[in-house]
Amino acid sequence: MIRTSHRYKRCCFLTRAVFLDRDGVINQKAPEGQYVTRWEDFEFLPGVVEGITLLNRASYYVIVVTNQRCIAKGLMTTAELEEMHQRMSAFLARAGATIDAIYYCPHEAEKFCNCRKPTPGMLLDAASSRGIDLPASWMIGDSDIDVEAGKNAGCKTARLLAPTETVDQSGRPGAPWNRADIVAPSLLVAVRQILHCEGATVGSFAVGPAVT
Ligand SMILES: [Mg+2]
Ligand SMILES: [Zn+2]
Repeated sequence: MIRTSHRYKRCCFLTRAVFLDRDGVINQKAPEGQYVTRWEDFEFLPGVVEGITLLNRASYYVIVVTNQRCIAKGLMTTAELEEMHQRMSAFLARAGATIDAIYYCPHEAEKFCNCRKPTPGMLLDAASSRGIDLPASWMIGDSDIDVEAGKNAGCKTARLLAPTETVDQSGRPGAPWNRADIVAPSLLVAVRQILHCEGATVGSFAVGPAVT
């Protein structure tokens, strides 16, 4: 369930993390009611390598937290899902982007497990096993349950808007994604905004304002 990299980590301090949802953040999500169950259908979104690399350089743990009820539905085995995640991590690693760990919930929505987002179980597990400072960490996702999971874990949150969701709509009182700290059209833009917000430096360069 957990894949760990061997990158050097500070051991004596709490570390910040950026938790990433998978479908719709790292890869193109399947149409409603369908699931990405084959590597051939796993399509990386633009800017993902750059976004993750920026987080690596700013010393954030990058941890994927993904609901995959396709397992409970019998559309994929855990071994197949883990192989897909290994290929995803290997592809990103070859491009210089490190994913530090991957957590997934294989359960059905009706099972009321501790891991399925918006429950914060995956984030809390990662935090306790890795010494993550949750209030200094972020959750980035393309759905409201990601924002809720992030908030339930005590993190700051960034909501990616689908092309059909406009920032105009997000200004509407009561729009669910209004509860996110940041709204952005892509992972890369969200990461730039987060690093700008946090005053992070990447290498010797300060991160400038996000450009959409
Ligand atoms: Mg998603
Ligand atoms: Zn679960």
